[in-house]
Amino acid sequence: MKNSQRREFLKKSMLGLSGMALIPGSLKASVRGNEEQDKIPELPVRVLGRTGIKTPLISMGTGSANTPAFVKSAYYAGLKLFFSATYYGEGNNEILVGEGLKGLPRDSFFIGTAAPPDEMDTRTGNLPAQFNAEAYVRKATASLGRFGLDYVDIFLLPYAGKRDVMLNESLLKALQDLKKQGKTKFLGIASHGGIEEALHAAADSKVYDVAMIGYNYKTENKESMNEALAYAAKAGVGIVAMKTTAGAFRNKNQVNPLNSDTALKWVLQNENISSIVSGMSSMEELQKNLAMIKNLKMTDQELKDLSLASLDSENGLYCHQCRQCIPQCPYNLEIPTVMRSYMYAYGYRNFKHAQHTLMEAGLPADSCSNCLNCSVKCTAGFNIKERIEDVSRLRNVPREFLV
Ligand code: SF4
Ligand code: SF4
Repeated sequence: MKNSQRREFLKKSMLGLSGMALIPGSLKASVRGNEEQDKIPELPVRVLGRTGIKTPLISMGTGSANTPAFVKSAYYAGLKLFFSATYYGEGNNEILVGEGLKGLPRDSFFIGTAAPPDEMDTRTGNLPAQFNAEAYVRKATASLGRFGLDYVDIFLLPYAGKRDVMLNESLLKALQDLKKQGKTKFLGIASHGGIEEALHAAADSKVYDVAMIGYNYKTENKESMNEALAYAAKAGVGIVAMKTTAGAFRNKNQVNPLNSDTALKWVLQNENISSIVSGMSSMEELQKNLAMIKNLKMTDQELKDLSLASLDSENGLYCHQCRQCIPQCPYNLEIPTVMRSYMYAYGYRNFKHAQHTLMEAGLPADSCSNCLNCSVKCTAGFNIKERIEDVSRLRNVPREFLV
């Protein structure tokens, strides 16, 4: 008997035996809860690799969610998979998500979260061979307390892009300990630079079950990236895509937005991608995404938009994280991380995350002021000096002023 049939049977039996008036309050609440569950729409799903999780084509990246009520609304709109991270709002986002999903049947949603070891250089993804694995397990365990859960479904190692780091024995042991202790059901990585290397390492490790990767129509070297995706998918790694709208806008003024439906449909044409992690912040965005996944066929207009966007003379907001700029800068500034901050600020308007990312870049106080002209030629054509100076203003904004 299916869940919904079982609930229907239970409901009818109780009503038939004694009538609603005789059902105790707690049972009434549970019947009401079950009725709400039955109203949740079924969305198109794909299987997330060997995890077996059937996830709707859209999942929620919770970093832009501002209230628990919005997370709950997304759940009742049919979303099942929610991704947070310890570094979203310094852990407060995990609390918010936990509150949003509180009281809902634990087997009706899936939670993923990400935390780097403290010793990890989050700009390069490097990790010293010797690091405190026990402290890492403690850090990961602290997430459970913030969610108010006994376990998460997927625990992710973020900033993954280096094979030697991902396959570091102490790291793998720490991650597997988390699984053995029942604190997570599955393990994974999140990667926005060195993605192909990360996908190969995830597949070869046989430890990482999930890979969250940056993937969009602006992805460079699409052929080799698609090969890496196929390699990982064949090994059973479930793949979810992030950064799928490539910064969402063509420039910082947010005029002429890219057609997000087109961008998302392009990603989902690749059947090795199980779901898109979308950082939604409003019901309008959520409803738009839900309408999009019901029909993945691109309209003539969308195909036209896509070819225009590929030829776009505007440089857009998406940095490929190719890191080719760093050796060109005499001060070796961590430009790719600053460019991600720029995208979070001007593309997604998530200023808290933009500031957090900017701080990660560790720029000196007056970066770029010693150069009259910038010697860096960015592969995406960005005016690097202008963008660094622009977004650096965020450093001095008190955190409580940021959304
Ligand atoms: S060269 Fe340009 S696209 Fe590549 S990492 Fe640097 S800023 Fe990003
Ligand atoms: S302007 Fe900034 S990014 Fe460009 S070379 Fe100078 S310090 Fe490096």
